[in-house]
Amino acid sequence: MGKIEFAGCQYVRNQTQIVELECPNCHEPDGVEAFVKEQTTVGDSVCAACGYVLPEGTVLYGRDQ
Ligand SMILES: [Zn+2]
Repeated sequence: MGKIEFAGCQYVRNQTQIVELECPNCHEPDGVEAFVKEQTTVGDSVCAACGYVLPEGTVLYGRDQ
């Protein structure tokens, strides 16, 4: 039986990440904490400052890093 190995960065890139985003409503920096997978949000994300809901499936551009 071989060992299971993780493929480093390639593996990590496919995981869901928590990303802090500027709120598109009130423009609070890092106001929205979103779960992101492959640059698309997973589940609704709520702004901590104004309560704006960023809906699931929102595609983030230019946030690759
Ligand atoms: Zn907001």
